[in-house]
Amino acid sequence: MGLDQKLEDSAGVGNADLDAVVIGAGFAGLYSLYRLREMGLSVRVIEKADDVGGTWYHNRYPGCRCDTESHVYCYSFSDELLNEWEYSERYPKQQEIFQYFQHVADRFDLRKDIQFETEVESAEFDEGSGNWVVGTDDGSTLSTKHFILAVGPLSDPFVPDFDGTDSFEGDTYHTAKWPHERVDFEGKSVAVIGTGSTGAQAIPRVAERADHLTVYQRTPNYIIPARNHRLTEEDYEEIRANYDEIWETARSTQSGHPYEYTYPSVEGLSEEEIQTALDEGWEKGGFRFFHAFGDLLSNWETNDRVAEFISSKIRERLDDPELAEKLIPDDHPYGAKRPPLDYEGYYETYLRDNVTLVDVREAPIERLTSSGIRTTDAEYEHDVIIFATGFDAITGGFTRLDITGRNGTTLEAAWEDGPRAYLGYSIDGFPNMHMISGPQSPAAITNQPVSIERQVEFITGMIDYMRENGYDYIEARKESVDDWVEHTAEIAEKTLYTEARSWYKGDNIPGKPSTMLMYAGGFDNHSEKCDEVADNGYEGYKLAETIKGLADTDVEV
Ligand code: FAD
Ligand code: NAP
Repeated sequence: MGLDQKLEDSAGVGNADLDAVVIGAGFAGLYSLYRLREMGLSVRVIEKADDVGGTWYHNRYPGCRCDTESHVYCYSFSDELLNEWEYSERYPKQQEIFQYFQHVADRFDLRKDIQFETEVESAEFDEGSGNWVVGTDDGSTLSTKHFILAVGPLSDPFVPDFDGTDSFEGDTYHTAKWPHERVDFEGKSVAVIGTGSTGAQAIPRVAERADHLTVYQRTPNYIIPARNHRLTEEDYEEIRANYDEIWETARSTQSGHPYEYTYPSVEGLSEEEIQTALDEGWEKGGFRFFHAFGDLLSNWETNDRVAEFISSKIRERLDDPELAEKLIPDDHPYGAKRPPLDYEGYYETYLRDNVTLVDVREAPIERLTSSGIRTTDAEYEHDVIIFATGFDAITGGFTRLDITGRNGTTLEAAWEDGPRAYLGYSIDGFPNMHMISGPQSPAAITNQPVSIERQVEFITGMIDYMRENGYDYIEARKESVDDWVEHTAEIAEKTLYTEARSWYKGDNIPGKPSTMLMYAGGFDNHSEKCDEVADNGYEGYKLAETIKGLADTDVEV
């Protein structure tokens, strides 16, 4: 059945065109579509790209791959899907994850309910009909009972507003808007601005191909070896034999990764025990290293030990002490900014004759010129500038939409003093609007597929509960939102996240208030709280049969 026919058939569902409109066809949007359709609801996904994949559609820069191990960077809801899909490496490349999404979309016949190449621009809650009216860039509108925002935590690319940007006559690229065609660096002088996870992946690959690469680094990061390798049939046999346990562990940890901490802390350990845990973690590589000590992000003593260890490893790799010191962080605890992984000899790249490191903390970028970049103490000529400058994270996907809830309240007004949401999903004044990876959810400080599945299950469980109990409307209570925001802030205060300027806190976007954007209390605790809320009949929410009921006679739960 085509989309239009479905629309016709479902017209009149609660007077809305559809039961649910979902924005985004990444991990979150596709799983939402799958679940809601299984529940028998009429759903349409609206996606601005021309294909599925989300992050893995947009980020195609050289070296792009994921830092989560491949066997847990996938959906776990279908055993059949788990058993039939094999990634070829410990950390899959962008191309392979993109293929995975093609497979998922085809396997579950998802495309028929996705409207591609359409951007949602606005959404307004119409109090007359009690529906959301969603407006798209083709000028059309759709009405829906439930409005689900699966817009992505890292989907709104950020480019610093340098003076003279328009005057640059060469080519510019943002890594998250990378062309589908191969970009040619051969014989060219290329600049990369940014040394976060994206820069760390792109820099070694660009250096191999460019005539000259200049890296503009503001803040050095602790970049640790991923230890990537191809996965063999035996690896997969072992993974499959233990899959139940692997997922169970992933769902019970703070990070959503399937690793337990080796020790809770360095405190109380002998020197030998600490050194062994660090050495073993280092050999395992990637986020397994991150899991050596449980209090890494809440105890300076632990963090200092780990940071010193990484710094000594960087010094060992570079026989140029001055260069090493430029590349070793000195302004933030390890992990308080998202720690990148190294796949292709990141540090050694700076020893190449065709690579220059420019420290823009010492001499900031002043402007772009017609032929390159001028810092406060020098001018550099480039043919290509690559912005690996990140995202307006967590909130950008929501705030770039023009959203109006009940009583004419706009999202802009609701978030005037900073973003706020109950459990990350819901805002008072915005009935039947559900956010995935919203502010104050664990979002992108966890292994995302695990936390996304959990969030989608919470939202769809809530919709199911409403149907079974005759409620048409649900809205977070103001007190629940306020309490959760306060709780999230209190938790953040006890961590070392507060000690870094990072996108975790919105510090990378000029003018954005600095506040921990995500719930740092752990995926496990967030998940437990979601269970508790659901078990208590959606505690903290108002449920009503009519929109008037929502406003006047809130149903106490
Ligand atoms: P997305 O994948 O971002 O999908 C959102 C979709 O919504 C996009 O397709 C976008 O086009 C669409 N959209 C947004 N707004 C609109 C609109 N207004 N109208 C129409 N469509 C819209 N996480 C991990 O856990 N492990 C990793 O190793 C990891 N690696 C990453 C690597 C990169 C380069 C990046 C950028 C992120 C990485 N992440 C990683 C985080 C990653 O974003 C999540 O893992 C996951 O892909 C998010 O899925 P999502 O569906 O929530 O959002
Ligand atoms: P990012 O971590 O925000 O890094 C942006 C970089 O640009 C930083 O080095 C930043 O410096 C620099 N920058 C920004 N504005 C600048 C300016 N005006 N002048 C000079 N430098 C400037 O962005 P990202 O690397 O794209 O990564 C974002 C997130 O996406 C990651 O943290 C991660 O969650 C996800 N990601 C994951 C993977 C993976 O898992 N494989 C890969 C890529 C991205 P400062 O640090 O000084 O601000």
